[in-house]
Amino acid sequence: MSQTQLAIAAMQPEEFRRKVVAHLRSTLGSFEEKATAHTWSQALAATLNEYIYAGRSRTLKTQIESQARTVHYLSLEFLMGRLLASNLHNLGLYQVAEQAMALQGLELADLLEQEPDMALGNGGLGRLAACFIDSMATLALPAIGYGIHYEHGLFRQEFIKGRQVERPDQWREFGSPWEICRPESQQVVKLYGHVETIHDQNGSRKVWHPSRMLRAIPWDIPIVGYGGQNVNILRLWESRADHFFDWDVFNAGGYVDAYAELVQAETVSKVLYPNDETDAGKELRLIQQYFFSAASIADILRRFESAHGNDYHLFATLNVLQLNDTHPAIAIAELMRLLVDEKQLAWQEAWQITQQSFAYTNHTLLPEALETWSVSLLQTVLPRHMEIIFEINRRFLQQVDERWPNDQQMQAKLSIIQEGEKKSVRMAQLSVVGSQRVNGVAKIHTQLIKTELFPEMVQLWPEKIRNITNGVTPRRWLKICNPRLAELIDQHVDADWPRYLEKLEQLKPLAKDKDFQQKFMAVKQRNKQALVAVIKQLTDVEVSAEAIFDVQIKRLHEYKRQHLNLLYILVLYRRLLKNPALDICPRVFIFGAKAAPGYRMAKDIILAINRVAKVINNDVSIGGKIKLVFLPNYRVSLAEKLIPAADVSQQISLAGKEASGTGNMKLAMNGAITLGTHDGANIEIAEAVGEQNLVLFGMKVDEVKALQHSGYAPQHIYQNNEEIKAALDWLSGDFFTPEQPGLLASISKNLINEDPFMVLADFAAYQQAQQRIDSFYRQKSAWAEAAILNAVSMARFNSDRSIMEYANDIWQLKPIPAAEC
Ligand SMILES: *Cc1c(COP(=O)(O)O)cnc(C)c1O
Repeated sequence: MSQTQLAIAAMQPEEFRRKVVAHLRSTLGSFEEKATAHTWSQALAATLNEYIYAGRSRTLKTQIESQARTVHYLSLEFLMGRLLASNLHNLGLYQVAEQAMALQGLELADLLEQEPDMALGNGGLGRLAACFIDSMATLALPAIGYGIHYEHGLFRQEFIKGRQVERPDQWREFGSPWEICRPESQQVVKLYGHVETIHDQNGSRKVWHPSRMLRAIPWDIPIVGYGGQNVNILRLWESRADHFFDWDVFNAGGYVDAYAELVQAETVSKVLYPNDETDAGKELRLIQQYFFSAASIADILRRFESAHGNDYHLFATLNVLQLNDTHPAIAIAELMRLLVDEKQLAWQEAWQITQQSFAYTNHTLLPEALETWSVSLLQTVLPRHMEIIFEINRRFLQQVDERWPNDQQMQAKLSIIQEGEKKSVRMAQLSVVGSQRVNGVAKIHTQLIKTELFPEMVQLWPEKIRNITNGVTPRRWLKICNPRLAELIDQHVDADWPRYLEKLEQLKPLAKDKDFQQKFMAVKQRNKQALVAVIKQLTDVEVSAEAIFDVQIKRLHEYKRQHLNLLYILVLYRRLLKNPALDICPRVFIFGAKAAPGYRMAKDIILAINRVAKVINNDVSIGGKIKLVFLPNYRVSLAEKLIPAADVSQQISLAGKEASGTGNMKLAMNGAITLGTHDGANIEIAEAVGEQNLVLFGMKVDEVKALQHSGYAPQHIYQNNEEIKAALDWLSGDFFTPEQPGLLASISKNLINEDPFMVLADFAAYQQAQQRIDSFYRQKSAWAEAAILNAVSMARFNSDRSIMEYANDIWQLKPIPAAEC
């Protein structure tokens, strides 16, 4: 243990309480008798910051002195959730804080509930970035996360008559105790204007005359590694008007107009786009992407130049820039622009540096999620970058022509520019061409990148595309969210298991032990009881903790097939109405999901689930055998309450569509049994836990492909399967929506006529799989054994493992543990 850790371990509750009270008075200007739970939580955060900033200076000093190679993780989203509990745990201060607050007559849990989620992301991609920066700090890697300091994160979801309504998120309404503004590191970001070609004795060069400027102001959020020794930062950029934006307008008396421009400048970091896995193609979105990419690169170059001057050939040795999806891909053109236009390096030299510095993570094969930007928009917003992309493409196509001479088809296929009526830039192509390494996020996904998305790139660069299966941090997703299970584990395994998750494998022999099974399932039962109260509070529905808790929590997407789950619920409900004595294990179907505000079908599915829920939950004739709840406003802090209480984890995407999934890992880690398709990381979860300890069903990727080729006809299934037909007709009639018959017909219509994600084709297999779950759950001991084996076999889904693979295979990065100072 380090000095700091020893001091923390010696901390007594009374001493800690006095520190918090001191902050309550001197930092918050309050006192014990007056302070609200919110004020106390702020005082607690201020107390933690003493340790956190000491750790930050320690880490920074070590990193500067070692001149270490650093990774810069560029992501448009970081779905952090709450930080108070995780900082307490990571610093090793949770228990002492709990006791200290008890001495003060306060429940720590109540204080933790005061904190709003930091929801600067949509779903899996943003949460992955959050898990990854946790692991980078834990592993003492020199790393910085870069993103946008959105004023409004992902919208808050409410239901009105079953429909999703979006409300603004106000996570910083009352300030955030974790962030520090660093005005000394602000940057200027330029936009629009035109490009001039200047001819001089050295030939010609390009000068960009931008017509708009933004200031980028950094806010730093400390990221505390497990154990508290290393503290990295997440640097989030806020946009402001340039200082000089409007002198003339001001002087001419245009005070109000000047403010209009200011508002426009500040719009850039105002709000997170709520679209998950779809490309909006909007000008403001492009500006957001460029704004944070350009500010981050300027920041990286500033730091580089202060240590190495203009020795740019060292740049790629000391820096690696990881692109989390193509959202920051414009950074490739930006680094080229800086090196060629501003630092006056030769193109070839600049390109070598750029290509060696970048790495790109692909997150999806869905065509609607592969970003393209129209050439005309790029020419308007970033005219010089568009020229640079054309030049990158021209040289790349020469390479293609050398490999496949005079092959027009190959040129069209590989080109960064999509030709046609409206030319556009394919950001995935740009990212592959501009990067040293490209990775997929699960074995099957990487395989599909190689065979379906970029087979020709594999021929050009056989070593470039790698797999790194995603992971989740076992700190937040086991130790912190499931304290009862953590305590049981602590009784059997060394205390450092949250860092070395493979230690849980020592518990494998206990999976058959009746006493351990009983303890493990008692933890699950208590977690379910806690969730019963949450469900009652959020939906006013009463459910029994004796039922199977069957959970599907994730963004609402047709490819994730929440409507497959719904269709089964309808079929089951109909069977129960026909035969109230039907012998099934009581089950609670639990949904949590936000839909993109403009995604009609997704919103219709939410409405349908809510309407069906209302009928089922109020139908006394089925004796409470099934209940159905849709918890509003699914987010990280709600996930932390749901996951420890889940029995069944539904991961039922159409095979080939879910790149990896990470919800599947979190749920298995907490002892839920996966009911899943052969997709994404489900396949690797099956390898890890054994086929007998989860339920996989449905078509595999090649079967999906074969069915698509042979001509999929969902209407035949509808016509020939009595239960499917009855359920879909039921949904489109007036049974669930008497006031407005046909309100839910869009879903049935879609499934019967198109069914793009083959819900009907997988239905028969799905309902059999559901029956397997039912009979499996009745075998109490076998189920407990499987649940335990899931929880203790998740080492390979620890995000520390993913990050070690990035560090070794892609980043060539070594840990630099912070030294005491
Ligand atoms: C983990 C997580 C996700 C991703 O879930 P998937 O099932 O992998 O899509 C989305 N949202 C939140 C809040 C999460 O915690």
